[in-house]
Amino acid sequence: MKPTSLPRVANADWYRVTDWQQETACQWCGTPLLVGDAALEAFAGIYCSESCVNDSHPLEMTEAKD
Ligand SMILES: [Zn+2]
Repeated sequence: MKPTSLPRVANADWYRVTDWQQETACQWCGTPLLVGDAALEAFAGIYCSESCVNDSHPLEMTEAKD
């Protein structure tokens, strides 16, 4: 069960960037994801927000799962 404060996205998991080696950029919009930022891992990519996942994978997002 996921915290209610986080958006529900199928096959996606939020995590916190805790090390500079994890720093990257959103696969969709290019927003930097630095230490301390929350990042969303979905579809073998890293995203900054649920909307970026939705925009990059509109079909897969139509049926969210818990
Ligand atoms: Zn983004």
